[in-house]
Amino acid sequence: MTSTRRQFLKHASAASLITGLGARASWASDMATVGKMKITTLSDGHLNLPADFIFAPMPQDQLAPIFSEFNVGSGPLTPECNITMLQDGERTILFDVGSGPGWQDSSGLLVDALDTAGVAVDDVTHVVFTHCHPDHLWGVLDDFDEALFPEAQYMMGRAEWDYWWNPETVDTIEAARTTMAVGAKRRMEAIEDSITFFDDGEEILPGVAARATYGHTPGHMGFELRSGSESVMVVGDAIGNHHVAFAAPTLLSGSDQDRETAAKTRIGLLDQMATDKTRLIGYHLPGGGMGHVERKGDAYRFVPEGA
Ligand SMILES: [Zn+2]
Repeated sequence: MTSTRRQFLKHASAASLITGLGARASWASDMATVGKMKITTLSDGHLNLPADFIFAPMPQDQLAPIFSEFNVGSGPLTPECNITMLQDGERTILFDVGSGPGWQDSSGLLVDALDTAGVAVDDVTHVVFTHCHPDHLWGVLDDFDEALFPEAQYMMGRAEWDYWWNPETVDTIEAARTTMAVGAKRRMEAIEDSITFFDDGEEILPGVAARATYGHTPGHMGFELRSGSESVMVVGDAIGNHHVAFAAPTLLSGSDQDRETAAKTRIGLLDQMATDKTRLIGYHLPGGGMGHVERKGDAYRFVPEGA
């Protein structure tokens, strides 16, 4: 991409920042220090999802008290999209890149958030993906279908890549998700030459360990970021919301592709993080996504940072 085009994009996004300011209050949503790492969550905006996308497979009588406690229900859900940025003085690493232009009007705002944080797209050294859904992967291309982060090394779990790269996936995935499969493949082809793969348990970069958190997608990955004795877990969509995922984690969610596996993953993560008092960042959790897990009866609740 030429710098002229990039300049144009910058101005275009600056203009939208001004006109859209009322609707979007914060860009660098949350910030923390983990040992020598600076961790920031950047807002890509939010999604508009029909409530059924999550709740359809769930027993409605169990949902009623959760709906009233969290003020959710039949109306559209508007979850935040929180991209984790890790800066350690040598590297600037993004975990996912948002939805980019053309998915939903309320998302695709990462470039504005980076701008506000004083980070240029050329500064990004690594992009690490949790999974290939549109709101996590599609932002890898800009308005001109060119790679948004020209200097970045891209990294993805091998199982996740293999699933979406497989030409049969577009036919075997449930019909409502065909667009996701076609769109994922197109983005993957654009970064094919600069991607490296990793597996469960690998330290993929200094202080960044991959953890298999399968179920939401077949190869979904979480990441433990550790420096000295401090750590934070980037859980992506393995814990997909702050209401039913915590209050009734055994209920199978419509947002997960392999619902049984996703529930096992979710329950295991919640139990471990509540026991270890682990700080976590959830891509769709509120208030910038950072917080921790507390036990509540035989389930859990999300406690946002600073709450
Ligand atoms: Zn998502």
